[in-house]
Amino acid sequence: MWQRRLPELPPWPVSPRPFPEEALGSWLGRVAARYRMSVQHLCHEHELQLDLETSRAGWLVLPVVADPTIRQLARLARLEEGRLQEIQTPTSEATNWRIQFYCARCLFLNPVDVAAPRWKRVWLDPEVTVCEVHGTPLVSVASSALHRCKNFDQTLKVIGRIELKRTRKLPGLRDMRYSRH
Ligand SMILES: [Zn+2]
Repeated sequence: MWQRRLPELPPWPVSPRPFPEEALGSWLGRVAARYRMSVQHLCHEHELQLDLETSRAGWLVLPVVADPTIRQLARLARLEEGRLQEIQTPTSEATNWRIQFYCARCLFLNPVDVAAPRWKRVWLDPEVTVCEVHGTPLVSVASSALHRCKNFDQTLKVIGRIELKRTRKLPGLRDMRYSRH
């Protein structure tokens, strides 16, 4: 059957800028949230060849993205490719973890833009167990809980709920002790 070749889609009207310390999946999740859609839908609409299923944490901790897709994303977001290359997931190891780590204070309080929480790339480094800014141990969240989130707004809601329970010291969360491996 004859198929119409779709014309190249125009760049997004607006897109959040990636922060230098951010993880690529975090930025992608923020773009999807900006358009109130899921990352999956965003990829489908723009024929983005992104592997959203390999990682236990889904799109938030992406395997390394191939150059043609980075080029396509950069064009859509009107960014230099280098801006996206430098925020790629540092190690594919992080995609296999059953849990991910973060610092809640850093997540919700971005010193550059308080209205723009982001997932830091350094949290995907297996050597890092303490927050570089606050000196407190990173805390954990199940990768499966992150995988279920459709975009970064949902991720923030999930983490917000976890943090609320943690501060109330509900049984079950108080004694969570995990290792990265
Ligand atoms: Zn911190």
